Amino acid sequence: QAKALGNGSFQFFEPEMCIAATRRLRLEASLHRALEQGQFEVHYQPRVDLRSMQLRGVEALLRWNHPEFGRVPPLEFIPLAEERGHICAIGQWVLGAACRDVQRLNERFGLALHVSVNVSARQLRSPGLVAQVGQALGASGMPPAALELELTESALIEDLDQSVAVLRGLKALGVRLSIDDFGTGYSSLSYLKRFPIDVLKLDRSFITENPASDGFVRALIDMAHVLDLSVVAEGIESAAAMAALRDASCDEGQGYLFARPMPLRELEDFVAHEGGRPGACSG
Ligand code: C2E
Ligand code: MG
Ligand code: MG
Ligand code: MG
Repeated sequence: QAKALGNGSFQFFEPEMCIAATRRLRLEASLHRALEQGQFEVHYQPRVDLRSMQLRGVEALLRWNHPEFGRVPPLEFIPLAEERGHICAIGQWVLGAACRDVQRLNERFGLALHVSVNVSARQLRSPGLVAQVGQALGASGMPPAALELELTESALIEDLDQSVAVLRGLKALGVRLSIDDFGTGYSSLSYLKRFPIDVLKLDRSFITENPASDGFVRALIDMAHVLDLSVVAEGIESAAAMAALRDASCDEGQGYLFARPMPLRELEDFVAHEGGRPGACSG
């Protein structure tokens, strides 16, 4: 529609733009109460050892069940939560839920699955992060080595000195640290040596039908191993991609080929039926 302005000119609005802006405003307005109203839910996506094909752990992925808009994707609401300053409270809740859920699952099934939790840039910059992580571990009884925190290159690079200090604090707790979406950002080798990182997660965009035919992926994996890092490939969707990555000595894989992110109840069934058994996750 076009709206006449007083001076005789017109301002044009695309209806889609209106809808998108309205949705954004509504999401923003309801975000601060989403936590207390129990609208968040953590889903878990399996991570598989590519050599043994055993389930090694899960990544916690946040879901927002909005009363009006239904399931809102994290790529839409996480940036909003960052901007509006809600991400620390939400992140703390995710940490607590993920440690509690996976620790219970491990106890119930006699497993030693690890859980990885995404940490946003703003959380990394907040002074309470190390204490929050310690609190989530203490409350759940999860062994620190079973928790992995996923950080992005861009978050780490915002303030190198501060990042190094926070990462050291986290390492002192005994947790593992990984770099998420590796390859999409700066991918600088020099900072990898500066940070006490344990795991590199190769971004989904590299994982094509035959990722190893791309010398770049092979070189990244070799380089990571030289630096004593373990490598996880994200977004494995085909058996061909999995075979090529295994061939390139990639340590672990995650992707729709193995399983999609799922609610805790489904994860319990998944673990009960195929958890731990070799070959169980061969897709
Ligand atoms: P991420 O940490 O890189 O998570 C992996 C994303 O790839 C997930 O999207 C997952 O569902 C998707 N994925 C996994 N396997 C495949 C595959 O085979 N094919 C395709 N096409 N996609 C696959 P999701 O759950 O939508 O999350 C998107 C992003 O939102 C995450 O990317 C992460 O950056 C962020 N996020 C999710 N949960 C949290 C959270 O609790 N805290 C923070 N700070 N960020 C979160
Ligand atoms: Mg991640
Ligand atoms: Mg990722
Ligand atoms: Mg990603």
